[in-house]
Amino acid sequence: MKKTHLISAISIAMALSSNVNASDAYTESFANYAKEIQKYQSNESWDASIRAYEKEVAQVQKSAGYIGKALPLPEPIKVADGVYTVVGSLIWHNPSNFGLNNNLSFIIFEDGVFVFNGGANPAIAYSFHQQIKKITDKPVKWLAVENSQGHAYLGASYWVDQGVKHLYSHSVANNDFHNAFARIKQSWGTRVGHELTEGARDVSDLFTTFDDKLTVNVGGGEQVEILNFGPGHTPGSTIVYLPKRKIVLPGDLAYNQRMLALFSYTDTLKWTQTFEAFMSAMPKDVTVIPGHGAPATLQKVKEDTYDYLKYMQNQVQQIVDAGGSEADAQKIDQSMYKHRSVYEQTYRNNAVHIYREITGGDLGESNE
Ligand SMILES: [Zn+2]
Repeated sequence: MKKTHLISAISIAMALSSNVNASDAYTESFANYAKEIQKYQSNESWDASIRAYEKEVAQVQKSAGYIGKALPLPEPIKVADGVYTVVGSLIWHNPSNFGLNNNLSFIIFEDGVFVFNGGANPAIAYSFHQQIKKITDKPVKWLAVENSQGHAYLGASYWVDQGVKHLYSHSVANNDFHNAFARIKQSWGTRVGHELTEGARDVSDLFTTFDDKLTVNVGGGEQVEILNFGPGHTPGSTIVYLPKRKIVLPGDLAYNQRMLALFSYTDTLKWTQTFEAFMSAMPKDVTVIPGHGAPATLQKVKEDTYDYLKYMQNQVQQIVDAGGSEADAQKIDQSMYKHRSVYEQTYRNNAVHIYREITGGDLGESNE
């Protein structure tokens, strides 16, 4: 009996550390402790402490959602009273930004806190949660995710472990994430660090999905509208609108400052239509917290998203009409967008992507 306890204590400790590249002091300590235990097997009081330890580890694992230090994320920006966003890095996800290259937002309502985007991994979700707790002691009650991508979803299991029961995603996005979970997790782990990503679980079965619109009562007579206007950057996407506060969080439907990245699943021809539907549904003076980049006006995200796509679609169409090639499309003058981040890494691919959309070419496979 005692031996069983000992073995399971060791195996729990090992399981916690085996997938980790031992870069985090806290998780490393579990592995060291498990090694220590093996030296003192015969001591009675030690055995009792091991059993207590076993329970403790299991408890910590279950309630913490992530075991490790809080990551040094940028401070949340106050957009309006009770509305905050952490503006993620404007470059690719990599170890230096822990995968935080989209915006994570939270809104404090009468009945609790609404979080938008689960974060790229449980470590980011945990660290973001610590920031929320510094600003409010209300519990996180709701989570919505912008689309099927890793930085929207992979942190979701952390929030589930924290007891968040109201999880929202578009039906297509939820399916896409579920089907690609293993590939998305592998890809993000490789890019930003397996030690941060390993704890992520597929919790898509716990999400409430919607097709066009869902309304959530958040207390104080206020409602949150969860909306979809059609495909775009991703086939499924979720927009969170706060009508009383005139604030909208459209996820990757809208970019500010950063160049758009087009993935295999991006349909820019539909994206521009969807953007038109989005614009006509919003009041002109709405404040936009975009998927990427700082909060901005509707006009500004239109320029950086819709106007750019329209310009590219027109230019590429002219090349196609004239019998031009992909190489010709790559030569389209995009120099007026040079100041935007990740310009160098995206502009040629964007031209090729749109060329292939128009001509029915192969768009490849993305695991973002
Ligand atoms: Zn994204």
